Amino acid sequence: MSSEFFNSIASKWQLEWERNKIFEANVDYSKPKYLITVPFPYTNSPMHVGHGRTYITADIYARYLRMKGYNVLFPFAFQFTGTPILAIAESIKRGDSDMIEFFKNVYGIEESKVKELGDPYNLAEYFKNEMMDTAKRIGMSIDWRRSFTTMDPRFEKFVQWQLKKLREMGYLVSEEGVIGYCPNDNFPVGMHDTRGDIEPEITTMHLILFEGDENSYNFMVATSRPELIFGVVALMINPAANYVIVEYKGKNFVISEKAYRKLSFQKEMKLVKPISPSDVINFKAINPVTRRKIDIIFSKYVDPSLGTGVVMNYPAHDPFHYLALIEANKNLDVISVVKTEGLGEIPAEEVIVQTKDPAELKDFVDSIYKAEYYRGVMNETIVSLVPDFLRQFVKENIANKRVQDARKNVVELLKSLDAYDAIYEIINGPIYCRCGAEIVVKKVENQFFITYDNPRWKSLTLKALSNIDFIPNEIKKEIEKVIFDLKKEAVGRSRGLGVKIPWDESQIVESLSDSTLYTVLYTIIHKLNFIPNDEILDFIFLGKGNVNDLEKKYGVDLRSLRDEFLYWYPVDQRHSGRDLVQNHIPFYIYNHIAILGNDFLPKRIVINGFVRVSGRKMSKSLRNIYPLFKAIREFGVDPVRVSLTSSVDISQDLDFNENIVKTYAEQLKRVFDLIDSLISLKSSTEEVRIADRWLSSKFKDLISIVNKSVESLDFRNAINIMLYEMYNILKDYFDMVEIPNAKVIGKIVSAWIRALAPFTPHIAEELWHKISNTFVCLEKYPSADEFDYYPDAVFEMHYINNIIEEVKELEDIVKKKAEKIIIYINENNKLRELVKKAIFSIEKGISMREFIVESAEDIKVSEKIYAIVSKLDPSIRNYLANNDIKEEDILVRNMSYLLKKIGVQEIVIYNAEDPTVPDIKSKKSQAIPLSPSIVLL
Ligand SMILES: [Zn+2]
Repeated sequence: MSSEFFNSIASKWQLEWERNKIFEANVDYSKPKYLITVPFPYTNSPMHVGHGRTYITADIYARYLRMKGYNVLFPFAFQFTGTPILAIAESIKRGDSDMIEFFKNVYGIEESKVKELGDPYNLAEYFKNEMMDTAKRIGMSIDWRRSFTTMDPRFEKFVQWQLKKLREMGYLVSEEGVIGYCPNDNFPVGMHDTRGDIEPEITTMHLILFEGDENSYNFMVATSRPELIFGVVALMINPAANYVIVEYKGKNFVISEKAYRKLSFQKEMKLVKPISPSDVINFKAINPVTRRKIDIIFSKYVDPSLGTGVVMNYPAHDPFHYLALIEANKNLDVISVVKTEGLGEIPAEEVIVQTKDPAELKDFVDSIYKAEYYRGVMNETIVSLVPDFLRQFVKENIANKRVQDARKNVVELLKSLDAYDAIYEIINGPIYCRCGAEIVVKKVENQFFITYDNPRWKSLTLKALSNIDFIPNEIKKEIEKVIFDLKKEAVGRSRGLGVKIPWDESQIVESLSDSTLYTVLYTIIHKLNFIPNDEILDFIFLGKGNVNDLEKKYGVDLRSLRDEFLYWYPVDQRHSGRDLVQNHIPFYIYNHIAILGNDFLPKRIVINGFVRVSGRKMSKSLRNIYPLFKAIREFGVDPVRVSLTSSVDISQDLDFNENIVKTYAEQLKRVFDLIDSLISLKSSTEEVRIADRWLSSKFKDLISIVNKSVESLDFRNAINIMLYEMYNILKDYFDMVEIPNAKVIGKIVSAWIRALAPFTPHIAEELWHKISNTFVCLEKYPSADEFDYYPDAVFEMHYINNIIEEVKELEDIVKKKAEKIIIYINENNKLRELVKKAIFSIEKGISMREFIVESAEDIKVSEKIYAIVSKLDPSIRNYLANNDIKEEDILVRNMSYLLKKIGVQEIVIYNAEDPTVPDIKSKKSQAIPLSPSIVLL
């Protein structure tokens, strides 16, 4: 199937839509409004299939609602802000050959042009144009008059106004805190500044300070298990790592060089000198609680970048520690500190007996930790390990206590011994900045934060969730959890394009903070032909101030701007990809609550799953970004639209691959050709036959299901019906009749094209113009009311199709094509009454057992009749209850269809009640009303 067929049709209608301003939405109080938005993209790549899924899903819904009579606004803008743009531009400027090749080969950009993209603004501008072009080419029904970028001075004024509001409310503060930080860029990093878009998660770790003996230095050790200090028999360092002596709080400590680099951003540490690991192991340290001298040993399992690069060895409770003692050839005491039901006295030893494989040991470390933390109790024997002056405290506060409770008392003990401190650590590290440097934790004095941890704001936001409809519904729980865990978000960055922080122009508002309320701008920006100030924005968005005074003062029409905002806002539906659940979506809700309040919250948030390409996650580093322009070129616009939105359920991850999109392209072309042939029928009839009535009834059902499916964003079901079920039903219809009924076909053509229009707007427009000179995208979405329903016809075709299916099943069983068919029918009056009784019983909710008892007929026959009737559609049951049907007539009437569908020369109908007909293969007696018995010959 050539993409050219779809693409030439597409560009023709895209031009027409644009020329006729079809998607420009204006205030119209006579219609219900619907504002549908998607996150604006970072303009650092071409629009790709991942964008495509979210954007086209929104577009389909926008087009659907337009046809449902809504005044739909679907706007679009572009984000130039921050490191996502900057990092790419810089790598081009640096001459990163991988990136340049990627731009040339995958994005198809000429080398001379690529060089210009080393400037972030050029890069952003280039891809803005590419994205706008692609959005048009994929058929998005956008009102482009309302488009803007985050470099627009009107946007800047708006975001500055927003930040000042947050600050006035106390939601934006300057304070000391810890942040993820790039030591190369010297600035805070959030999720969108990191490679792979990972949000640094910062936690505190306990730091235990060990004195050295008389000839030694001191040691500092980070740990998550301070309570095990009683069982620490050695300290471990990595023989292959670099170690240094640092001065901290007036004392000299041994730590790894990597740890020093990292910790110097959060602690006042001074580098004294490097020291070799083989020197370090000659030292001894003193366990601060037991006061015992302990050895320093080598262990290759010590990660020098984690904690301080020095690790406590508590061999009873960590199999790696136990293994380290064996490998270091040290025969030291193994002291059990915690006893836990279900674990032995020395849990690590039991593990080591089973395995010494590091990969397996890791799992054991985790499970021992969990078991001991949740169920463990501190051993009483630890009392005897500490010097006299500590015994009373340990006995009363630590021994025999649950680990959970003992831990904080151990920390108290260590503090009183001057042996305790804490460090911050990134727990999901290592994380790399887009510039390539590893992220560290930095303590900062005056950083601007948005306080997403403010308890009042947080609870308002959590409450607000109940006013928002989430699709899929399960995502709400996840967002709730994210909000619950949200911490402060640092606002400022020093580098990249974007809005300046109004009270500190050296800083740029980072990209997750300037995108949290901006959708209000869509409502007014096409009329905002000046740069607004705070007073004007207060009026437009908050209704503050006297409009007459303001209009006189500034000489602008503010009333119509306020009206636009009040007409369009809130957002009725926001579509987003899965990745933004972690930050953008919660921030979006928080900011709406804070500044506009509950009345302007988005009404519905729709989250779609990820897009994979041929089974793999899409990323720049994997070099498998699939640009939409390429997909369109290869497969055609409408097939790409269908594949990206309707091949799986909305919450599932979607795999974009050649086979799927080609299959859709082929079927779309078949549907196109079929509808096209229906439009130009050579002969037709006015006669209304069973087949015509059946066809009309079927379309009534299907159009009703399509409406419900699109409404609930079950696009997969809607597309299956429109591309396959409707198609197959028409094929069957043409097997039944030689000459079609003009009226029914006319209705079907019209409804089918309109039903397809939101999904495949281009081929729908092309077909529609063969029957009308209006635009299908402005027509009414088809409704089931357009079709009549005929239960007699539905029953008849149901009866006939059951026979056809049964023959096929029988042929499959005997693995042989039949040459001739015998059908025994049973039209016994008593049994036909039993059918009516069964219908009556089912309507009354009488069970099969009760029915069998009441019917006083042969149990098998009653059971079978009840089962058959219960499977029928209620409308058919109703029809059968009130009409006497003749099965023989039905079969005779549809004989040519049966012969064609079954593919036999002869079908013989026998009345099972007739004693003169032969009983072939003992099937005669098996026939009952509605369920003939069939013999293949
Ligand atoms: Zn960096």
